[in-house]
Amino acid sequence: MYWQKELEMMEDGLIRELQLKRLKEAVLAASRSPFYRERFQQMGLEPEDIRTLGDLHKLPLTTKNDLRQAYPFGFLTVPKERVIRLHASTGTTGRPTVILYSRADLDQWTDLVARCLVMTGVRQGDVFQNMTGYGLFTGGLGFHYAAERLGIFTIPIGSGNTRRQIQMMREFETTVIHSIPSYALYLANALSAMGIDPRKELSLRIAHLGAEPHSEQVRRKVEEIYGVDAFNSYGLSEMYGPGGAFECIAKDGMHIWEDAYLPEIIDPKTGKPVEEGAEGELVMTSLGREAMPLLRYRTGDLTSFCPGICGCGRRHRRIRRITGRADDMFIIKGVNIFPIQVEQVLLGMEEAGNNYQIILERKDYTDIMTVAVEVQERFFLGDRKEMENIRQRVAKHLREELLVTPEVELLKPGALESTGGKAVRVVDRRDIYEGGISYTGPE
Ligand code: ADP
Ligand code: ZN
Repeated sequence: MYWQKELEMMEDGLIRELQLKRLKEAVLAASRSPFYRERFQQMGLEPEDIRTLGDLHKLPLTTKNDLRQAYPFGFLTVPKERVIRLHASTGTTGRPTVILYSRADLDQWTDLVARCLVMTGVRQGDVFQNMTGYGLFTGGLGFHYAAERLGIFTIPIGSGNTRRQIQMMREFETTVIHSIPSYALYLANALSAMGIDPRKELSLRIAHLGAEPHSEQVRRKVEEIYGVDAFNSYGLSEMYGPGGAFECIAKDGMHIWEDAYLPEIIDPKTGKPVEEGAEGELVMTSLGREAMPLLRYRTGDLTSFCPGICGCGRRHRRIRRITGRADDMFIIKGVNIFPIQVEQVLLGMEEAGNNYQIILERKDYTDIMTVAVEVQERFFLGDRKEMENIRQRVAKHLREELLVTPEVELLKPGALESTGGKAVRVVDRRDIYEGGISYTGPE
C-alpha cells in the first residue's frame, strides 16, 4: 500500500511542522544561489525573515523567464561537481529551461515517484512499459528509476515506435503502462487497425497518464478501451518531473507530496492567493531539494485544491485535474477558449474518435477556428449525407459550449499522427503574412 508509510500517512500538524523546517532550509540554501542572492538583496529580504508558513508570501515568485535569464547555473546552490544530471522542459511554450540535479535530488525524486506507483497499486510481479521519451524529458528516467527501485520488471521502450510497443506488450505481458494520454488513444487506433482487442489480448491493468492536460472523458475512454485503471500523473521538470501530483485509487484529485512541495494557488493576475477551493495558478516551492531549490515557482497551470480528506487516508493535499496552462488559452473573435473545452465536447459525442486538433487562421482579417477531429471507424464508413450530418452536429455542440462557430473537418481514425510526445492541440497560423499586410496581432 505504501512506499514510505511514515511520510505518506503523516498527520496534518506534523506535515506543517516538517514543511516549516524544510522551507527555512530551502530559503537559506536558495540565498546561496546567484539568482536568489540578488533577488533577496533587491527586496531587502533575509532568510531569517521567514519564521512561519504564513511568511511565505514575503518570498518572491519565480517564473520560467527567471530560469531562462539565469541559464545555465544561476540557480545552483552547490559546486558544479555535485551536479550529476540535467533535464530540460519540453519547450512547449518557448525556449526550454534546464534543471540540474544532485545525487540527493535524484534520490528524493525517485522516492516520490515510487510512492505514486505503489499508491496506484503497482507491485512486484508487474511488468512496466514506459512509453514516454527518455533523455532530456523527465517522464522517461523519472518513472524508470522509481520502477526499478521498487524492483519491477521495467521496459524502457521510450516514445513512439507503435508496432514495437504492441509487440512488447503482447510478448512480455505488460501490466502497467506510462503514456501521454493522446498517445494512449493513438495506440488504441493502431491496435484496432491490427484487429487486436486490448481487453482480450493484452494483460494491462494500470495506466499512468500524464505530461499533458486531458479531460475526465479521456481517462474513461482509456479505461474502457484497455480495461485498466487510469491515473492522472502531473509534473513539471522545474519540480523534478513526474511525481509533482498524482492520483491515488480514490481518483478524486491528485495528491501533492507536501513533505517535498509547498503548494499555493494564486490569482494569476494579482499574484495573491485565491479563496480556498477557487481556481487559480498552481505555485510550488521545493522542499528538501539540494542543487536547485525553487521558491514559489509559477507553474502556469490552472487548478484548485480539493476540499476534505481523501478516501485513501493520506493527508497530503490534493489538486484537481489541470484545466489548462494560463498560456494555453487562445482568443478567437474575442472569446477565451481552452483546448480542454473543445476536448470535453468532442469526447462526449459517440461519433468522435480518439484525436483532434484546433487550427486557428485569419482570413480577410477574420479569425477562423477549424476543429479537425477523427471520427469512429463505423461512422467514417457511412455515406456522404451521414458524414455531413455528423459534421453539423459536431459544429452545433461546439458552438453551444464555446459560443463561437467553428469550421469542422472530419478525419479518418489515425489520421492525426502521434509520435508519443506531447500532442500539439492548437496550431495558430494567425501571425502568418497575409494578403500584403503583415499582421502580428495582439501579443
Ligand atoms: P514544458 O513546460 O516545456 O511543456 P515539461 O515537460 O516540464 O515542459 O512539462 C510540464 C508541463 O506539462 C506542466 O507545467 C503542465 O502544463 C503539463 N502537464 C504535465 N502533466 C500534466 C497533467 N497530468 N495534466 C495536465 N497538464 C500536465
Ligand atoms: Zn488519496
